This record gives sequence, structure tokens and C-alpha cells, in this order.
Amino acid sequence: MTHGNSTAGTCPECGRRLHAERVLVEYERTDGSRGVYAECPACDAVVTPD
Ligand SMILES: [Zn+2]
Repeated sequence: MTHGNSTAGTCPECGRRLHAERVLVEYERTDGSRGVYAECPACDAVVTPD
């Protein structure tokens, strides 16, 4: 999966594309890949974008 500079991924709940400005926290997974928590404005919830 590729990421644009301004896109954090898509909401796993509604499929909406989440802009990078919605990202709340970035973290590194145990396998070394990057994960993020982002706020989905449609779900009004914090999600882990795909
Ligand atoms: Zn959503």
C-alpha cells in the first residue's frame, strides 16, 4: 500500500480517506512498520487507518 504525503490512510469503519492532519499519534509497530491513530470526522472516533 502506498501513502501520499497528505493522506494517513482510510478509516476501517467507513472507508473515508483521512488526511494527515487528522493524525493524532504515530507509532512504530513491532515489525518496524509505521502505524498511526487518526480522528475520523465521519465516525467521530479515533481509528487506526488502513
Ligand atoms: Zn470513519
